[in-house]
Amino acid sequence: MSDIIQLLPDAIANQIAAGEVVQRPSSALKELLENAVDAGATQVQVIVKDAGKQLIQVVDNGKGMSATDARMSFERHATSKIRQSKDLFSIRTFGFRGEALASIAAVAQVELKTQQADSELGTLIQIEGSEVKKQEPCAGNPGTSVSMKNLFYNVPARRNFLKSNPVEMKHIVEEFQRVALSYPEISFSLYQQDLEVYSLTSGKLSQRIVGLFGKNYKGNLVACEELTPHINVKGYIGKPESAKKTRGEQFFFVNNRYIKSNYLHHAVSSAYEGLIQTDQHPFYVLFLDIDPSHIDINVHPTKTEIKFDDERTIYSVIRSAVKQALGAHHVVPALDFSF
Ligand code: ADP
Ligand code: MG
Repeated sequence: MSDIIQLLPDAIANQIAAGEVVQRPSSALKELLENAVDAGATQVQVIVKDAGKQLIQVVDNGKGMSATDARMSFERHATSKIRQSKDLFSIRTFGFRGEALASIAAVAQVELKTQQADSELGTLIQIEGSEVKKQEPCAGNPGTSVSMKNLFYNVPARRNFLKSNPVEMKHIVEEFQRVALSYPEISFSLYQQDLEVYSLTSGKLSQRIVGLFGKNYKGNLVACEELTPHINVKGYIGKPESAKKTRGEQFFFVNNRYIKSNYLHHAVSSAYEGLIQTDQHPFYVLFLDIDPSHIDINVHPTKTEIKFDDERTIYSVIRSAVKQALGAHHVVPALDFSF
């Protein structure tokens, strides 16, 4: 009898991991945007061609990487964000799994340019299907630019599975909106095929909402805030009359990370009961601040589903915050926002 088990080569292991991290162009954009924010960028530019199928480029002015780190960043499970398992319970960065760049480079052609503020030269790396094609010093600006070209060029089955450009672009805009909403102090721009989709200057949350969703929100936002020892809720909700029949403008952020939760969505919509039609959806952008030790974000690779220690308390705090805001809105209908 012979032994038949072998460790998979890195390129294959990365490609398998990529299946979970990179489903479509927008999932790569999410990872690249999060890396830019984690790097302390104050300006982030996104360039998209062919709805991300041909190109997604994210340029930031964050802290950049050394030449060695630039190469390391493409290794699987290589991260600067956690060091010990106990760090998993106090995560304040978006990233920590060290999988994104390795995954993206396994299924696309990637060019990274990065430079630290105190160095004269930066580093250029070209990598395709996990294989480094070029690494050399380059002159540039402090910060990092990652270009992802021809996603799934080497996985035709997945490439064919991508949806039409309008559908893929919609996902891209959604990911962009989520990150841009959670960091109104960072300037973000989005270009598609050389056309400007968004150009958002640094400002307050209310300004960011108007920048992303339009001027009609200017008079339609109600501030919402509830501070408890366990959890803080802050943000804006839409006046009942601004509720829409379509979904898509409902946002929860937990410690600045966008999350999906039908349960918490219900907490908000139930607070609107009697104020909007049952087939309408209220606008909301709510930030929940919770001690990271009371949540588990390591449930899913994309981290949009998380576990709370005490979901029911959170539900009732959110519901009461929204009810209170709506109550206050009725007493003082003309809330003044100093834009
Ligand atoms: P993670 O974000 O989970 O650590 P990634 O694969 O996304 O894993 O990135 C690996 C590492 O590369 C990061 O921990 C970080 O140190 C570095 N890195 C990635 N993107 C950037 C960037 N835009 N600016 C500076 N450093 C970056
Ligand atoms: Mg990352």
